[in-house]
Parts: sequence; C-alpha cells; structure tokens
Amino acid sequence: MRKYGLSKKILVTGGAGFLGSHLCDRLLEQGHEVLCADNMFTGSKRNIEHLSGHSRFEFMRHDVTFPLYVEVDEIYNLACPASPIHYQHDPVQTTKTSVHGAINMLGLAKRVRAKIMQASTSEIYGDPEVHPQPESYLGKVNPIGHRSCYDEGKRCAETLFFDYHRQHKIRVKVVRIFNTYGPRMHPNDGRVVSNFIMQALRGVDITLYGDGEQTRSFCYVDDLIDGFIKVMETMDDFTGPVNIGNPSEFSMRQLAELVVELTNSRSKIVHAPLPPDDPRQRQPDISLARQTLGWEPKVKLRQGLERTIQYFEQLLGAA
Ligand code: UDP
Repeated sequence: MRKYGLSKKILVTGGAGFLGSHLCDRLLEQGHEVLCADNMFTGSKRNIEHLSGHSRFEFMRHDVTFPLYVEVDEIYNLACPASPIHYQHDPVQTTKTSVHGAINMLGLAKRVRAKIMQASTSEIYGDPEVHPQPESYLGKVNPIGHRSCYDEGKRCAETLFFDYHRQHKIRVKVVRIFNTYGPRMHPNDGRVVSNFIMQALRGVDITLYGDGEQTRSFCYVDDLIDGFIKVMETMDDFTGPVNIGNPSEFSMRQLAELVVELTNSRSKIVHAPLPPDDPRQRQPDISLARQTLGWEPKVKLRQGLERTIQYFEQLLGAA
C-alpha cells in the first residue's frame, strides 16, 4: 500500500483537460499525490501550468490506448475527447480511446488493486424517449451514426467496468456526466456554452442550431467535481452507474439570450442547421445521487455563466 495517513496516490487520465484539471486541483487540495496522464489531444498545458512545480503533482504525456505501468491507489479514467467536433475528428481513435483505454486502465486497477472510476456520459442514453433519464433507462443510441464512436465507445467502456467488477472483483464506480461547463472549457470545442460566450464576447453572430427549442441541463464544473469525489468515497458495494448533472433544463434559445444579457453583447442570434443525431432534450434524473451520495448541484446557471464569462474574457485578453 502506498497510503501515508489519508493521503493516496491517484491517477487522473485526461488530467490536463477541462474536467481533469479541476479534479487534479481538488485532489491536491485534499492532500493527495496526483499523477496526471494526458496525450494532449484536447488537454492543454494552460489548464495545469499552475501545478507545475507542485511537490505532489506529476504530469505524464501518455495515451491510454497504450498500457501504463504505475503504482497508484485510485484511478479516475477521464481520457477521451468529449465534444462532437473533437471526437468526430478521428472517430476510430475515439472508440479506441474509450474501449482500449478502459481495458488498459482496468488492467492497471487489477494489477495494483486500485479503485477505479469511469467518466461515462449522458450520451449513453442517445436521443432519449424517457424524460428525465434515470440510470435504469437503457437508451436509444444509433450504432452507426456520427455520434456513435463516442456513445458506443462509452457504452462498451461501461460494459468492461461491470465485467471486470463481476469477473475480477475490481472496485469500480461509473458516473454518467451530463453537460458541464465552466472555466477551462476549450474555447474552440464547438460546445454550446463556449461557442455562445466566445461569439458574444467577440460581438459576432450567435449560432443557434435548429429551432433553438432543444434543451440541455448544464452543471457547473465545481458541482460535478464534488460529485466525483463523493462517488469515489462511497462504500465499495456502490458501483453506480449514477447520473451527475444539474436537472435545471434550458432551451438553447434561453441560453443564447442569457449569454447576450450577461455579456452586454451586441451580437445577433442567427439560426444554423441542426447537426445530425442532435438529441432533442436532455435532463438528468438525479434521485439516485441525492439518496446515495447526499449530492446535488448548488451553482445556478446565471452564477456559473458569470464565472465562465470571466474566464473567457481573460483568455481573450491574453491572446
Ligand atoms: N448548439 C447550438 N449552437 C452552437 C453549438 C451548439 O445551438 O453554436 C446546440 C447543439 O445543436 C445542441 C446543444 O446546443 O442542441 C448542445 O450542444 P453541445 O455540442 O454543447 O453538447 P451536446 O449536443 O453534446 O449535448
């Protein structure tokens, strides 16, 4: 065991990404030793530069589709491009990252007897016919569409987690992440929150896809990280899958109007075509997280957007 007091050695794959870097910060604050692995496809140095030189932080350029031999107590497996433009750039590699990445990280967990958490996604529900989506809903996913490399890759990763748990008695946790936003989002990832804020700050047209009536439920990053930590800390018999997200649902039109208001922007809202397989509505049912973890999100959309806008303002100022 590498435990000294309550401090653990923790691997975060995708640790230089949007969520991963916030998770590294939180684990360091808690006194742990953090090994951050990232192949830097969508991860960025800027997200972790404040940690370089930290005595308990180590960065490693590594692609999870290759095995990794390290000694750790816990693993958070976050590695995978998550925005449609990034994961569709090389769809075969996206599936490999989820599937081979899960196999490699589960293999590592098995060898060192580590507890391991998988960052799964609301995308495993596809374009849902049940609303809001409880964990028991099995989903409606197109297996051959443009989103399938991500959706089916993440579904298969969940399968692997549960088979390793049943077959090899690995301690697993599966978290299904719903739309999350906050500082360190990639400015060019095409996600709706980053797109709208960047467009509003630059004073260019805001691109509302389709009729703008499709909905999403946005969780502020700090709330999500609280959820991750709570899930990892629950008893070993709680494996999930568990939804972590904010149930307050907004249409994309409402989001666009709110961003324009908060940035005092002169941008106009214009319509653009809806991407293929774009889910009509999405909202987490978080009853399970409330009951088992005592977790629920605290940050309201307006408050979270204000903090995110501040981040993008600084980013544009520094460019
Ligand atoms: N969207 C939009 N304008 C944009 C980017 C996205 O209207 O500039 C819409 C998109 O069609 C979708 C929603 O916003 O309905 C959320 O898109 P995002 O890519 O952020 O997340 P996901 O579809 O994976 O939930």
